[in-house]
Formats: sequence, structure tokens, C-alpha cells
Amino acid sequence: MKHGLISVLASLLVFGACSPAETAAPAPEQTGAIAGNADAIKVNAGDWPLHGRTYDESRHSPLDAINTETVADLGLAWYHDMDTRRGQEATPIVIDGVIYVTSAWSKVHAFDARTGDLLWQYDPEVPGEWAVRGCCDVVNRGVAYHDGKIFFGTFDGRLIALNATDGSPVWEIDTITDRDKFYSITGAPRVVKGRVLIGNGGGEFGVRGYVSAYDAQTGELDWRFYTVPGNPDAPFENPILEMAAETWTGEWWKLGGGGTVWDSMAYDAELDLLYIGVGNGSPWNPKFRSPEGGDNLFLSSIVALRPDTGEYVWHFQTTPGDQWDFTATQQMILADMEIEGAPRKVLMQAPKNGFFYVIDRETGAFISAKPFVPVTWADGVDQETGRPNIVPEAFYHNTGKPWEGTPGPMGAHNWHSMSFDPHTGLVYLPAQVLGFPYISDEAFEASELTVNLGVDLEAIGLPNNQAVRDTVRRSLGGHLLAWDPVAQKEVWRVEHGGPWNGGTLATAGGLVFQGDRNGDFSAYKSETGEKLWSQSVQTGVVAAPVTYELDGEQYVAILAGWGGIVPLLLGELSHNEDGPQVNRSRLLVYKLGGTETLPEPYDVSRARVPAPPSFGTPEEIDLGAGIYARYCSGCHGDTAVSGGVLPDLRWSYALGDEDTWMLITRDGGLKDVGMVGFGAELGDDDLNAVRAYVTHRAHESGVADLGE
Ligand code: CA
Repeated sequence: MKHGLISVLASLLVFGACSPAETAAPAPEQTGAIAGNADAIKVNAGDWPLHGRTYDESRHSPLDAINTETVADLGLAWYHDMDTRRGQEATPIVIDGVIYVTSAWSKVHAFDARTGDLLWQYDPEVPGEWAVRGCCDVVNRGVAYHDGKIFFGTFDGRLIALNATDGSPVWEIDTITDRDKFYSITGAPRVVKGRVLIGNGGGEFGVRGYVSAYDAQTGELDWRFYTVPGNPDAPFENPILEMAAETWTGEWWKLGGGGTVWDSMAYDAELDLLYIGVGNGSPWNPKFRSPEGGDNLFLSSIVALRPDTGEYVWHFQTTPGDQWDFTATQQMILADMEIEGAPRKVLMQAPKNGFFYVIDRETGAFISAKPFVPVTWADGVDQETGRPNIVPEAFYHNTGKPWEGTPGPMGAHNWHSMSFDPHTGLVYLPAQVLGFPYISDEAFEASELTVNLGVDLEAIGLPNNQAVRDTVRRSLGGHLLAWDPVAQKEVWRVEHGGPWNGGTLATAGGLVFQGDRNGDFSAYKSETGEKLWSQSVQTGVVAAPVTYELDGEQYVAILAGWGGIVPLLLGELSHNEDGPQVNRSRLLVYKLGGTETLPEPYDVSRARVPAPPSFGTPEEIDLGAGIYARYCSGCHGDTAVSGGVLPDLRWSYALGDEDTWMLITRDGGLKDVGMVGFGAELGDDDLNAVRAYVTHRAHESGVADLGE
């Protein structure tokens, strides 16, 4: 067993290191009616009608009643507790006095935005066992609205249209091309020119990425753009894929290739260009994907398409030949700004790879890129082409050595939304410093039940030494970063003490709003980062706030609820100083003079059963550790310590009851709540080895006696 590589730890330690009248915005297409397009939508100042408020995804509001002078009077207006205890990642949509928001398990809720009265809700009844088909919790990032309908994707890959008035279903279609493959949907759809656009998740499991466009009225498929080429023996679906195929080697199509479009899109009505963010390679390790190298287009790329046809226009690849899970699915913000004396129409993205990119959104031409956190995989970016200068050690697939890189697969910035304030000219982004030890899994074999990375997950667990664990945990970083995209430099930051903080909202009130991992929702002065207001929401926040106006009164809304990949996979490394953050899922709405208060935090603790005596040979425990790392750690946490969202198995009743353990882990007795059985790939000896390992960990970590 290779647990607790000192070099791995050392590496982690090192890395610890509007309408035009509304604003004087230099980007007129950011607010108000979008010109040059008969089908463009009018954005009222008081609404939040699109995922990023406007098609440019700037997440800036012209509302300014809540401002640097008044924000001290901000108080809770109302709140609503959700009926799940998984990660809440959605951005609410607000139109004509109604808030539409999704919760975990792809449930949709409509609230009276003044009072918080629940108007309707819709549960698409995602099968619990689909949970294992996603990498990163059963999350959903929100709905889209168009012409009286609400559109949303479900975790099991359906796209559904509801009547916005009463939540009754209008149509439902399946977006998945092969239901044997582990596709999912977690992203919010976008509606452009009467088409509903949606991609899929699944890049860790061996799928082929695509984005689909459906008729908003009927649900009929209009076009589909595949982001990576399929088997070249079959006709390419799109002429550009013939070019893309020249950048791949081997038999990449057999494990899908990856390139899922799982989150971001943006639209420029004047240029009539739809921008999609494309995900990582599948498997991560190119030895098992494209063994003779190549850029592997369009992995980790921003691709511009014609929204009427899905026709390819241009692409910009941030991470050629990605092998680090460096997706380019992170948010794209469109803005107009002066760079070196010339007005430019730019697209900005801070992808996982740690560089902040500014590119020309008309042509895809590179303008500039600089690292916004410590970056070790590349020694800068070529200032002519935008290609990264990748250091040789980062090619872990052919060095034969672990690559302890930062950023890692959780990204220097992940899906958590950033915002752009045209007045300050700054982008406010939730940045994080979070490395990862990449080790080529030379014995890789594809699994049908879990992730297919080609990276050795068994070798990276933390050792039992508590001082070392604490030191590594404290070395991880996360902060609210104010970034100047023209000068490509940091202007200010607010440290949050660790990664996985919420998305941001910028307003004309001179404020930036953000929730954080510590359970606080705060407002900062957008020019300086000075904290002007903060309240506890009793749980970690990962989603982004929005603001709206009704009857002349401004509101701010935030969906809270700790979850997602960091607490699930990182386990103890995601904890705060006093232990794991908890999930209490709720929508909170604030206004000036709001006097509502939150109840005493409701109890989210689970029954703790003392562990049985340790059992099994060292070999069995070692076997169990390896199986745990591959099949269990993604949800229950590294080295069997939970991050606080899903059960900590060290206190499981089933550790001392083999029959119950088998009923759950082999036969899927808890599949309806998301825990599938692994009997199809793992034998009883394997599963008992995991039971022995977790029991061993309960004793080793000193919690075996900590019962109820
Ligand atoms: Ca990924």
C-alpha cells in the first residue's frame, strides 16, 4: 500500500502557500434590451431572468438601494428550508415577483418573491441509484425561463419544461444518447432564440461530450454539437470533427474521450455567437485516451457556435491535451473594455487551470492570460498564442513519477460563479489553492460502476498522523479575489481559510455579495474588499446570490447548503477547525430593515454507533483501503472521514453486522437514497475487506468508542 506518501503531503504544503440608462457601463449589451436580435430579451432592472442575469453572464445588477451606506440595515426578510440535505448549487431566477429555484435531486420550487410563500414545486423523481453516476453530489445549478415556461435538467439526464404559472409539466425529453453510460445533468439550461441549450456531466466516467439544442415550444431536438470526435470509421457528425480527430491518437472513442459541457454558456446577440465551455478528457490519463499525444480538441476549450444551427465558428483551447481535469467549463463573462488603447470585445474565463484568460470573443484570438493563484503545471502562457508552457514534470503519464501539482482537479476556480462590475472594472471570483497528487495508474482497467480516471486514487490517502492531517488541511486556501482583467493583476482579496466558497454578485450599490464555507453571507465594498455586513446562515454556502426589486424595494437572495465534490471527496481536508461543516439547506432572502430571524440550528447529527473490535489481516485491511479509495472515497471522504454531508462510515451500525453491510454495499439496500450496491464488480471478500478497513480506521482515528 502506498498510503501517505510524504512527497504528496510535502507538495500540498508547498501549494498551501441593465439598461444603458441604468449604468455608465462600458458594455452596453450587458444590460437592458439586447440589440441586433429580434428575439433578444428585455431585461428589467428589477429582475434576474437569466442564469447570469444577462446573456453576458456578468452577474452585475444596476440596483443600488442596498449600497455601501445602507447595507448595515440589511436583514432577513424570509427563508424557506429545503427538503434535502445535499449540496445546493442553484442560482435563483426572478421574474415578475416569482423566484424559481432548484434544489438537490433536481427539484424545482416557485416562491412569491415578496413573502416567501411556496407557489408550487415539482419533483422529477430522479432514481436514487443515479447518484453514483455523478462525480460531485446530486446538485443542480438552476432553471431557465422563456415565454411562460421553466426549463431544467434532471440528474438522470432529462430536460423538462414546466408551466411557470402552476408547475404543471409541458414536455419532457431524454438528453442522453446512451443510457448505459454515466451521463448526468447538473448545469442550468440557457434559452437562446427559442432553443433550450443543455449539456451533460460524466467526464470522469467515460462519456463523449455534446451540447444539445431543443425547441422551447415542443422539446424537439433541433441540433447537437459533439465536442470530441467519435469513431473515425463512422461518419463524423460535423465537418469540424474531422479536423478535431487529427489531434487525437489511439482508440480514444472507446472510453468516450470526455469533453462534457456541464456548466457554462454565454451568448452575444450582436455577434450572434453562442459560447460553450468544454470539460476535461476522459480518462484523465492520456496514456489510456490518446497515447501518442495530441491536443485532443475540443477538450478544455471555449467553443463559439451559431445558435441557429450549432455550426462551429472558432475555438480557444486553454489546456491542450488536458490530463489534470482542467475543464474550461468555468463561467465565461462577456464585456467590452479598452486594452492597450483599443476597444475590445472580450470573453473572460478563470478555468480550473489557474490562468485568467482574456480573449477576443469575435475571433477567439488570444489577448492575455496570467495566473490568479500559484500555478505549478505551466511556466506561464505564450503571450502570442496563449498556449501554456507546460513543465515536463507535469506529464505524469510518461514520467513514471507522481506529479504533485497545483491547481488540481477541484480547480483554482470551479463552477462557483464570478461577477464583473463595469464601474470598478474588476472581476470578483471565488479562488482556491488546492493541489493534487497525480499518479499514473499503470494497472488501470475501465469500471462500469465508478470513475475511470487512469489516475491512482489508492496512493493518495492521508496518513493517520493527526498533526500531519491538520497541517495539510490548514495549507489549503480559498479567497474572494478581486481581479483586474486589463492589467491582469490582483487588486484585493478576502481570505476564507479554505476552499469551496460561494459564487459572487456585484451591484451598482458598490457591493460584492458572497457566502462562504464558514456559514456566513457577507457584503464587501467592491473597490476595497472591506467587509460591510455579514450574517450567519448556519451552513456552508457554495451557490451564488442574486438581487431583485419589487414595489421599489431591493432584495438579495441566496441558496445555502454545504455540499459538492470538496466535502464529499476531501473528507477531513474540507473540515473547519472545529470539525466538519454541516448541511442545512435553505433559501434566504434579505431586504433593508428585514427583521426575520433564523431558528436555532436544527439538529443534523446522525446516530453514532461504536465500532466493533478491529478484525481482518493487514492484507485484508490493505485490500479494503484500496477498494475504499476507488469506490467509496468520492462520496464518504478520503481515508473514511466524512466531510459532513454524507454519512461517516466509521460510525455505521453495519460495521458490526456483516449481513446488513452486504445488504447495503452488495445488494443496494439503500439505493433509493443514493447508495448503490457494488456486487456486480466486487465480491463478498472485497466488500468485507472494506468493512475491515473502515473498522480499522475507526480505531486508528480514535473514534471507535464515540457512540451516541
Ligand atoms: Ca471533471
